[in-house]
Amino acid sequence: MGGQEPAGLDRDTTDRILAAVDAGFDAQLAFTQELMRFASLRGREAPAQTFMAQAMAARGLSVDRWKIEVDAIRDHPGFAPVAVSYDEAYNVVGTYLPPDNDGRSLILNGHIDVVPTGPEARWTRPPFEPYVKDGQLYGRGGGDMKAGLAGTLFAFDAVRAAGLRPKGQIFFQSVVEEECTGNGALACLQRGYTADAALIPEPVHECLVRAQMGLLWFKMTVPGDPAHASGAYTAGVNAIERSWAIWLRLKDLEAEWNAQKAEHPPYGAHGHPVRFNLGKISGGEWVSSVPAECVMEIRVGVYPDWSIAHAKAVIESAIAEAALADPGLPPPVVTYHGFHNPGYVLAGAEAPERVLRHSHQSAFGAPLEDLLSSASTDARILGVFGKIPSLVYGPACNAAHGIDESVDIESVRRTTQVMALFIAEWCGVEPL
Ligand SMILES: [Zn+2]
Repeated sequence: MGGQEPAGLDRDTTDRILAAVDAGFDAQLAFTQELMRFASLRGREAPAQTFMAQAMAARGLSVDRWKIEVDAIRDHPGFAPVAVSYDEAYNVVGTYLPPDNDGRSLILNGHIDVVPTGPEARWTRPPFEPYVKDGQLYGRGGGDMKAGLAGTLFAFDAVRAAGLRPKGQIFFQSVVEEECTGNGALACLQRGYTADAALIPEPVHECLVRAQMGLLWFKMTVPGDPAHASGAYTAGVNAIERSWAIWLRLKDLEAEWNAQKAEHPPYGAHGHPVRFNLGKISGGEWVSSVPAECVMEIRVGVYPDWSIAHAKAVIESAIAEAALADPGLPPPVVTYHGFHNPGYVLAGAEAPERVLRHSHQSAFGAPLEDLLSSASTDARILGVFGKIPSLVYGPACNAAHGIDESVDIESVRRTTQVMALFIAEWCGVEPL
């Protein structure tokens, strides 16, 4: 049969690695649950990072744990504005250096930060007390993405348990700030970490992410004209209502951008690539006063072929135009306080992609499928700014960022097998 690529690993090596993942899987699941018990919300990641650093050290990796200094990354083109303290923002990288170091190098990257839980009373069980039910592992951050992050270490364990030693250097990165800026991954780049390829096991349903959107966060402060509520029909302008009118204009803009999707390949094939999300709102100070101010915090998706500067200009002009409905009032003030990066379309990644296809086929017995994502990951940082071909591939997850988040345990096992095979074929292996 001409033209068919041979898989890079022989059957015996493949089988030994697959079996080694199975043999270690109970320990992997226990470790993942331990990691999920850390409520590593933004600004509170440090204890979980210490736990990761210990797990890396226990495997003989050399561990680099450092606090992100904003001044060290501020001038980088991938820097996203920071509106919070980085006093507890620690990254951890564990490095495996093989004796001859003559294989291809690899970054395995995952984020330790998790998003807030929402009302805990609506969870079946407390969000940071993980449990297993019907083949799912429940808890905040299990799917997004501690199962994948833990899996990187256990995939490595499995290769060695199979009696093999990777021939290329491997960097295990546990980063902060993925859910808000990307500055954690950026700090790894700035510190000098690079490799021939990267793999990020985000929960993308056992698919390879072909493209991901850019992301922008902004805060819009909308002035009103405060007055006594009894005069609201004749006096005053309600800042909350004014904000809402501007938000409706932004929703129109979202629809306009989605209608142009065919002009932004590969997103013509996506149902609804651009998502604007009004994520936070606060306004008013007294129930009987017409609100003087309203603040909205908004996340927008940006086509990968657009610069962030372009997206900002379009948004700012839409806001300014909508604000003209109240000509006597000061215009809204827009500030940027988070995500601030273009998207990423997988390019120049043919070699690692081929290896991932082999690995997926071997573990699942089915071909790897592609995914166009309306979300974004740190591959955006490593791929665009680090020029590292960056694959996003990981397990099936339910209700990421929602109530009763869970990750499919069988999917974690299989995708860990894929990562282990990927390590072996990409880096090359020799007998221990
Ligand atoms: Zn994630």
